[in-house]
Amino acid sequence: MYEQERQDLVEKLRQKGIRDERVLQALLKVERHLFVPEVMRPNAYNDVALPIGYNQTISQPYTVALMTSALNPKPGDKVLEVGTGSGYQAAVLFQLGAKVYTIERNTKLYNRALKLFDELQLRIAVRCADGTIGWEEFAPFNGIIVTAGSPEVPVRLKKQLAVGGTLVIPVGDKKTQVMKILKKISEDEFETEEIPYFAFVPLIGLEGWKEK
Ligand code: SAH
Repeated sequence: MYEQERQDLVEKLRQKGIRDERVLQALLKVERHLFVPEVMRPNAYNDVALPIGYNQTISQPYTVALMTSALNPKPGDKVLEVGTGSGYQAAVLFQLGAKVYTIERNTKLYNRALKLFDELQLRIAVRCADGTIGWEEFAPFNGIIVTAGSPEVPVRLKKQLAVGGTLVIPVGDKKTQVMKILKKISEDEFETEEIPYFAFVPLIGLEGWKEK
């Protein structure tokens, strides 16, 4: 279903400047309409963020494509995602052949993602916890992607990134963030690139925003 819509979306992302063919192919495969509430399905292939309940959103496809291109996961890479939400970004990473570990703090969204991954036979490890502390058991990760806006880069996530790995995270205030792309050069050295501007829901946790 929605095959033509998916092709049109990928064409639009190409026009908007997404060049990574592997990422474009992955977006052509993953059925975004299965990751949004049923009433939203007709809008699933518009290049916009959509509500998924509990004040959270599935990111805009352009943002998913941009972040995935920046992360550039290779088949077999171990990747940690913080903020599972709908599970769409995790499914895109899985489609690219990564070993995906994803953390969601909201119990309802966690349960929904767990069920969906099972139904779609996506072998993705999901955990319900505060992702700002990472997932020590499976560290180090070749890539870490945070899909909620953070006041700063969590120290634990920097530690759990392998040397040579990439961390992609929106950092800023609660309304606007820049996308930070950190490459770990050595145990305590990072090269950082920034792309303005994005609007993510807040990352809430020990090394994120405090819960009200
Ligand atoms: N990647 C998601 C986008 C989700 S929106 C997708 O593809 O749909 C951001 C998500 O981060 C929300 O579901 C929110 O509940 C979650 N979140 C916020 N703070 C978190 C934290 N500290 N740890 C884990 N998840 C968190």
